[in-house]
Amino acid sequence: MHHLSITELAQGLREKQFSSVELTQNYLDRIQRLDGELNSFITVTPEAALAQAEAADAALAAGSAGPLCGIPIAHKDIFCTEGIRTTCGSRMLENFISPYDATIVKNYKQAGVVVLGKLNMDEFAMGSSNETSYYGPVKNPWDHRCVPGGSSGGSAAAVAALLTAGATATDTGGSIRQPASHCGLTGIKPTYGRASRYGMIAFASSLDQAGVLTRTAADAALMMNTLISFDPLDSTSVDAPLEDYNQSLATPVAGTTIGVPQEYFGDGLSVEVAAKVQEAIDEYEKMGAKIKEISLPHSNLAVPAYYVIAPAECSANLSRFDGVRYGHRCDNPKDLQDLYKRSRAEGFGDEVKRRILVGTYALSAGYFDAYYNKAQQVRRLIKQDFDEAFAEVDVIMGPTCTSPAFKFGAKGSDPVAMYLEDIYTIATNLAGLPGLSIPCGLVDSKPVGLQLIGPAFAEAKLLNLAHQFQQVTDFHRLTAPGLD
Ligand code: GLN
Repeated sequence: MHHLSITELAQGLREKQFSSVELTQNYLDRIQRLDGELNSFITVTPEAALAQAEAADAALAAGSAGPLCGIPIAHKDIFCTEGIRTTCGSRMLENFISPYDATIVKNYKQAGVVVLGKLNMDEFAMGSSNETSYYGPVKNPWDHRCVPGGSSGGSAAAVAALLTAGATATDTGGSIRQPASHCGLTGIKPTYGRASRYGMIAFASSLDQAGVLTRTAADAALMMNTLISFDPLDSTSVDAPLEDYNQSLATPVAGTTIGVPQEYFGDGLSVEVAAKVQEAIDEYEKMGAKIKEISLPHSNLAVPAYYVIAPAECSANLSRFDGVRYGHRCDNPKDLQDLYKRSRAEGFGDEVKRRILVGTYALSAGYFDAYYNKAQQVRRLIKQDFDEAFAEVDVIMGPTCTSPAFKFGAKGSDPVAMYLEDIYTIATNLAGLPGLSIPCGLVDSKPVGLQLIGPAFAEAKLLNLAHQFQQVTDFHRLTAPGLD
């Protein structure tokens, strides 16, 4: 039953082909059997999951169950969960148990889902390979020598290895779309402000956004229906009408204008990936879409602007981890300075420290205008590029990543090479736009993704176009070799 999509599982539960308890036990058994090798979970919660499954079975029997009731999912370990530890992939929060649920966790609880546990991730969501987690790297189910992508690598690997039906994730510069691409999944990051950030541990607050990783676009639509809510507890939450993303899945592609930015097909893109992406765009043309070449002239400035803004915001956000209020505290501090210094030195890993140093530098007097303000100006230009493009096209398509998943350690000694991994995904976050990745073929026997970017609040359109592609192709049905 783990091969079924969420949509099929929901139907199976209603037709009593299996119970939620059976389904949950099946996933728990798989986690126990396979995750020792993959390392996609940081915490597994079997007792709580089975209790939720029992409650879901009762609701299903009573006929009072919503569409996701009884479906097992797992949360990225960046979302606070009451009573269950939330590590954010860091030693700093190794023993942190949140006294409250993140809003999106609460939304899923109310929908009656079963939560299998908390998923591995790059430390504080900083990374593109899931190699910076304090809890060890996550393996890509398609090739255990390769990374699953980051920072939501645990979310992607767990869904791809059929250890959970779906997963929550976050995307600050590509962390949903990039692992979706590397693990052969559908991943969507909504418009900034669409999903609540309350209880989602902050990395770069003006860029962070929650989303989901699933096998199909229809599953993503179902999960998005619960993820999205207006939240007065998040001051950047948008009070816009809620949509049923299932409703528009069947809308035909014909009449859609797709923009293909020339800048997304330049140097650095693997020729094989480019060919797969082009074939996918051709598929849309066959379905009646109009294809238009466009330009996003400031694309090459997205990575440099992001790597000023994101570290600047992270240096402010992470100052709360001081060893006093919560999180790791060093033993026997000499004085207050020593407490701060050693708690932070011991609690944070190298990449997090690098970002804090860069961000603190960029924000310091004398450099603020030269770096931070300049980066914000560039951000505005990037947003304008998209505004101009969306005056002419409905959606933008291109590659999600430059290549399929790379080997562990391949970029380890070169942070800039790692930062360039998100070259096609980062501009979307800077502009606050929704982005989605769907599998569009295999290169070197590993999945690669097609990226769809829409104007603000075009989630329904992105899911619709992704679903239509999945009606005429089978890439989303491929599973990693050797999976039972
Ligand atoms: N790879 C990017 C970074 O390291 C983006 C991470 C993310 O989206 N959380 O910052």
